[in-house]
Amino acid sequence: MSSPPKSILEQVPLKSSEGLALALASSQDGAVMVLKWCNLAFSRITGFEVQEVIGRRGTIIIGRDMDQATHLLIIDKLMSWEAFSVTTRTNRKDGGQLYVRITWAPLSDPLSGNRWWLCSLVELDHPETGASLEMSGCPRVANLDSQENFENEIARLERENKRLRELATIVSQESNQDPLTGLSNRRHLELALNDYLASLRKRGEEFAVIFVDLDRFKSVNDTLGHEAGDALLISVAKTLRHLSDSNDTVARLGGDEFVVLKPLGTSALNISGLADSIISELAKKFSFEGRGISRSASVGVAIATKDMPTPEQIMADADAALYHAKANGRGRWSYFTSEMHADANATKRLATELLDACDRREFVPYFQAIIDAKTGMIACAEVLVRWQHPKRGLLLPADFLDVAGKIGIEDKIDSIVFEALGKEIQKLDATGFNLPKLSINISAARLANPSLIHDIRVSKIDPKRITVEILESVYLEEEDNSLLLALSELKQLGTSISVDDFGTGHASVQGLLSIKPSILKIDRQFMMTALDNESSMALFGSIVSIGKSLDIKIVAEGVETKQHGQLAVQLGCDYLQGFYFGRPVDAESFRESLLQAHGAVWEQSEKSTLLVSID
Ligand code: C2E
Ligand code: CA
Ligand code: CA
Repeated sequence: MSSPPKSILEQVPLKSSEGLALALASSQDGAVMVLKWCNLAFSRITGFEVQEVIGRRGTIIIGRDMDQATHLLIIDKLMSWEAFSVTTRTNRKDGGQLYVRITWAPLSDPLSGNRWWLCSLVELDHPETGASLEMSGCPRVANLDSQENFENEIARLERENKRLRELATIVSQESNQDPLTGLSNRRHLELALNDYLASLRKRGEEFAVIFVDLDRFKSVNDTLGHEAGDALLISVAKTLRHLSDSNDTVARLGGDEFVVLKPLGTSALNISGLADSIISELAKKFSFEGRGISRSASVGVAIATKDMPTPEQIMADADAALYHAKANGRGRWSYFTSEMHADANATKRLATELLDACDRREFVPYFQAIIDAKTGMIACAEVLVRWQHPKRGLLLPADFLDVAGKIGIEDKIDSIVFEALGKEIQKLDATGFNLPKLSINISAARLANPSLIHDIRVSKIDPKRITVEILESVYLEEEDNSLLLALSELKQLGTSISVDDFGTGHASVQGLLSIKPSILKIDRQFMMTALDNESSMALFGSIVSIGKSLDIKIVAEGVETKQHGQLAVQLGCDYLQGFYFGRPVDAESFRESLLQAHGAVWEQSEKSTLLVSID
């Protein structure tokens, strides 16, 4: 069936030699826009296909050869909704230079109230010589003749341009593009997913959903700043685009979450190949301001097949696979299996319960004694968090800290525990008993967060009485000075630093030298194996002597038996901790046992090796 002949008016944009385009603009800011229509002449002049133009921002006509002042003045005029023309040099899609006269006219849709720009382009055969900027239809915004005026104007426009980038997010919700990375946005992904699901139903075309999530993105943002975070996201977008085919949909869901939709084709092998490449490419450092910054990602894969009862759930499946990959140590990919559903649901439930638990302040500090090996007296108490769950009873950190970290509420939990700790310590002090020190576990993310110092102040506990236990992995982030800075701030308050679980990660003397802790806690796995494994015992001994040579005090963890205690003393440990002296207990029981034993936990016999438990 042939289409009806076009009216004279309909033929105008087709036949016009002037390039015409219509862009839908943000109601808040005229410089934020998405192109919705263009004619053939616009496509011919700019070198972009009509289809390529649609959905792009107005910057499509800003080529690299346009001078910055012209670019900024265009933004300025667009922001204030003024009609104007400018004659300028710019570039086509292929980079070729051209001279154009661009005219912008603001339009308003009386029905929807939406605001639009009509942009027209005339290609000039003979460029005007001299000034590339010529404004018409409006007075010039500023006298740019003097260098000073020019610089002020540029500074002002750059400030406004920053605001513009923020507003771009608003318009991106009306468009299909993520403003930061240029990938599809969530809205476009949903549309594409519906198309994929429709082809699966109609023609049995199977497809894969690949979720990509950066590991520790928040710490890049927190420690190196948002610009580094943005640069990282852009680098990831480039990598994903480069690795996928042109007809795959690559989207950023927001934050550090990316999704690739890919037709399955003839084999699922290309999907696992893609997942492998994503993991290995994103394990390479990326360069920011001349520095190499580590990045890594976890990936979850799910495949929508013909015989699936509910293919609509495919996104949730890929998310569950992603969670599985993260929980299994990050930097890897995982393929969805049906057992993961149960896991994912349990995690979701736990996340919701944790949020309620914060509101109800259900987290409490438990205390475990650390003993001075020479005097047998209690030297310190390690504070360990417990969740008083209304139905499931007392929960251990292993039951909830991972999920708490994933939903970003570790600092909330810490604050609740700190507040309770402050009160408990006041009660203990009121008895007249002197507990010299409190040792508190702090995650790396928490360390660089200023709320830690705030929490210490609020608790009213003397910072000199506090030791913070950090995992040795903290100094593995070698580019990351902010953690060392946070440590030195704590040291200035008089707080001691202790390295926890030493020997389990990539323990290094260099790391110890950079952190300069006053205490080293040797992980209990050494104690567990030292008695019947000579090399483990030798390693234990050499860690103690490294500590001694650096003037660091040593805590032996995991002292479960008398023999463990004797061994730790022989090897020269300064402090002992473990179930032999007592398990972690609530504040009241801790107070009672301390008062009963007057703080003496270990009584020295003639041979000075008799250990007495406080339980
Ligand atoms: P950790 O810092 O190594 O804490 C010591 C853990 O070892 C405690 O487990 C304690 O109950 C256990 N333990 C102590 N003595 C012995 C022993 O003789 N034998 C054995 N088998 N285990 C012993 P818990 O309380 O379950 O804590 C587990 C981990 O959770 C802690 O390991 C710590 O890394 C983390 N954690 C606990 N509380 C907090 C907290 O408030 N914040 C943060 N960020 N992490 C915490
Ligand atoms: Ca600890
Ligand atoms: Ca430990």
